[in-house]
Amino acid sequence: MKLPAFEYAAPTSIAEAVALLASRGGDAKAIAGGQSLVPMLAFRVASPALLVDLRKVPDLDRIAISDDGVRLGAMVRWRDIEDDARLAVAHPLLKAAVAQVAHYQVRNRGTVGGSLAHADPAAEMPGIAVTCEAEIAVEGSSGARVIRAEDFFLGPLTTALAADEIIVEVRLPAWPARRRWGFQEFARRRGDFAMAGAALYYDQDAQGRAINARVGVIGVGDRPRRLAAVEAVLNGCIIDDATIARADQAAAASVDPDDDIHASAAYRRALTGTMVERALRCACA
Ligand SMILES: Cc1cc2nc3c(=O)[nH]c(=O)nc-3n(C[C@H](O)[C@H](O)[C@H](O)COP(=O)(O)OP(=O)(O)OC[C@H]3O[C@@H](n4cnc5c(N)ncnc54)[C@H](O)[C@@H]3O)c2cc1C
Repeated sequence: MKLPAFEYAAPTSIAEAVALLASRGGDAKAIAGGQSLVPMLAFRVASPALLVDLRKVPDLDRIAISDDGVRLGAMVRWRDIEDDARLAVAHPLLKAAVAQVAHYQVRNRGTVGGSLAHADPAAEMPGIAVTCEAEIAVEGSSGARVIRAEDFFLGPLTTALAADEIIVEVRLPAWPARRRWGFQEFARRRGDFAMAGAALYYDQDAQGRAINARVGVIGVGDRPRRLAAVEAVLNGCIIDDATIARADQAAAASVDPDDDIHASAAYRRALTGTMVERALRCACA
């Protein structure tokens, strides 16, 4: 389908990009990889008067790794994460989740910032951001601010971003060397959005019991979310068959998905438990 008419600008600084977005009072949109926005234009779900292309803004494509954690610039593509061998140690959960995003062609262009701003409830990156307590750094005409991932996603395709704000980077806290983790999702075809997915990790105390457990799910609600009841099941326990069975049940009981054309609510609930179970088996293997 043909796209609606729009003006186009490719600013070379964040300040210029923000000024361009602000100049149209909500009738302008940033464009990064275009993998979600261009289909939305084609289907007339969005028809902004101006597209502000971020590809010439310097430094937004940086991956920085330090003792504080991992910082991903908004224009980092899925492929950049796949190709960065450092991330296998610095954030293996991120790397495993991104490997499940879409197909090769989409991974070549789709970006971290675009995925966070698009806020698809089944998308992997928002799920990782919420599970790992990431911070999202944004800049707009009223200045810079940092938003906690759990406060950022407000509903399907809805975030806390103002119309003139740009995501600059996402900050993932440091990843201890011996941390246990798992990521599992189920989609009808490889590369499709997940019908349900689970990202989780925990550390272990001297007796091998789980501590600092974090469990997040995607595709089973209006936004990615953590499952506190499952974290409570894991913390203080050895992750054995009995604990995994209780975590599976707690996960299924913690979500309240809708029926849709892909699956019934009951199926998605059961699938959520299974994804948590499988992710835990990977984590303790
Ligand atoms: C066939 C197909 C399959 C896919 N499968 C998956 C999948 O399995 N999992 C998954 O997670 N995604 C999937 N996607 C989506 C893909 O990952 C997109 O790349 C991603 O959602 C958006 O990134 P983008 O860079 O293309 O953003 P764009 O399409 O350019 O923009 C998306 C939205 O984000 C805004 N935006 C972009 N960058 C910024 C920024 N820095 N600051 C503020 N706002 C910004 C835009 O204004 C727009 O509203 C799929 C896409 C396709 C076409």
